[in-house]
Amino acid sequence: METLRRVGDLDIYSFRGVEHSVNRAVFLDRDGVINRKAPEGEYILLEKDFEILPDAPAAIRSLSEAGFLVIVVTNQRCVARGLLSEAGLQALHKTMLKRLQTSGAVVNAVYYCPHEADNRCACRKPKPGMFLKAASDHAIELTASWMIGDHWSDVEAGNAAGCRSILLADAAHPVPPTHDHCKVAASLSKAVEYILQHLESAR
Ligand SMILES: [Mg+2]
Ligand SMILES: [Zn+2]
Repeated sequence: METLRRVGDLDIYSFRGVEHSVNRAVFLDRDGVINRKAPEGEYILLEKDFEILPDAPAAIRSLSEAGFLVIVVTNQRCVARGLLSEAGLQALHKTMLKRLQTSGAVVNAVYYCPHEADNRCACRKPKPGMFLKAASDHAIELTASWMIGDHWSDVEAGNAAGCRSILLADAAHPVPPTHDHCKVAASLSKAVEYILQHLESAR
């Protein structure tokens, strides 16, 4: 597909001579990307424990300003484990959206997988189910989109969906030794900086 032009947030593509408009998105993992993650083996279950990371609002704002939809894709098996109801998880996400919005940051949609790893669902990352659902709901061109996550399964899911992926890693959370061939950034704001520098080659 060849990009013809942009109208507002939409890229206009020509496909077999017919013009189509599609969105580009940046998919964000939740825990460890937007909010401080719980200690290993624990889950964020309460609003009081949901702490937005300091660089998240500005990073999300700049993605929106560059014309990307911002979509959260998060595995939450705490639901399957009975630690949080699905209504409780949705309430937590409502709080997240409200707090971000207070800082001028808009998340366009939140997708979650409530299943356990052995439920063999199509949505739990590293499977791409949440990305495919979002693409169909929001007319997203996945090959023009990005995934940012702090776990290797985020990178795998993004790649499986056809996106380009960035792994957040630093000294405290190093890249797994066998998985060093993906793009790595030290923080969400660094990852966003990289995406904005590579806008044209994202096509
Ligand atoms: Mg995470
Ligand atoms: Zn699932």
